[in-house]
Amino acid sequence: MPQKLASAQVLDSILDRINVGVFVLNKAMQVVFWNHFMEINSKKTVDEVLGRHIVDVFPELPKQWLERKVQGVFVLKNFAFTSWEQRPYLLKFPHNRPVTGGVDYMRQNCTFMPVKNDQGEVEHVCVVLTDVTDTSIEYNKAQDALSKLAEASNRDGLTGIYNRRYLEQTLTKEFSRVKRYEGSLSFILLDLDHFKSINDEKGHLAGDEVLRRVAEVLTTCVREADTLGRYGGEEFAIILPQTRLKGALILAERVRHDVQEAAIQLRDSTVKVTVSIGVTQMHPETPVYERLIQEADTALYQSKQAGRNRVTCFQRATVPGSF
Ligand code: GH3
Ligand code: MG
Ligand code: MG
Repeated sequence: MPQKLASAQVLDSILDRINVGVFVLNKAMQVVFWNHFMEINSKKTVDEVLGRHIVDVFPELPKQWLERKVQGVFVLKNFAFTSWEQRPYLLKFPHNRPVTGGVDYMRQNCTFMPVKNDQGEVEHVCVVLTDVTDTSIEYNKAQDALSKLAEASNRDGLTGIYNRRYLEQTLTKEFSRVKRYEGSLSFILLDLDHFKSINDEKGHLAGDEVLRRVAEVLTTCVREADTLGRYGGEEFAIILPQTRLKGALILAERVRHDVQEAAIQLRDSTVKVTVSIGVTQMHPETPVYERLIQEADTALYQSKQAGRNRVTCFQRATVPGSF
């Protein structure tokens, strides 16, 4: 049978060589063990910390939280754990990773272990502190990539403004908000006039450029709280939270005017386009958000019928209940 490692000196020297922070506290939160990793990273030697209350040595420690955590281990006689995601670090240790990682101090996972005496009573709590800075940097990178991906999935590839999916998502959200808390909500749908002829006469790429430029003009018209997106081929939509019909009509007219005024520079010519617009407002009786799209579409159709390059407001039936 192999011989058991019993020497305290051997164990101490192992604890001093491992690349993990290990320290031990007694019930009074005084330090009774402090390994080499702790010395190097805290820049406090064993002699400086031994026998002292840990918070006296490191006043920046979250005193209340730490006391509760350590006392919990004494009372419950169980392990406790805290990850860097809950609390990025226990002690402010520098790290040697590039600053481009975006992490200021060493990220730490901490395990609080009960250390029992021969009678089975917890006399000390051993804290093991692992450096998880690399993990956290990788995790942050993955999170960044995910949020960029999520943002890209909301955008229209051609114009860079929001896409239909995001428009519908936002309209659903705003619709529920008004249903729940009241307030107002308006919706604008617009469609380029005779766009097909631009494609036919100048080519599809020129048509794409026109769509991009129109999106830019629209972007300058809307406010921060509004959501502008490309609803379909040459159709755009604007969601206007906290906006009544009157305000929506003013914005729609500005959009119509600014698009009409814009001289769109193509490779070897300049073109002008106009838009037809339909506007509607949510009412207490509006049953579902899709109704707003239908109403704006009806009004848009009327703008086309009436000669294009105009704004039409959806006319609700006046007979109650016929909506
Ligand atoms: P109206 O005034 O009645 O709206 O006439 P219109 O010509 O604008 O409407 P129509 O629906 O006949 O044609 C729309 C055209 O938009 C047809 C389609 O090829 C074009 N289109 C849709 N998406 C794109 C796109 O991403 N790029 C380009 N270049 N054209 C597109
Ligand atoms: Mg059109
Ligand atoms: Mg169309």
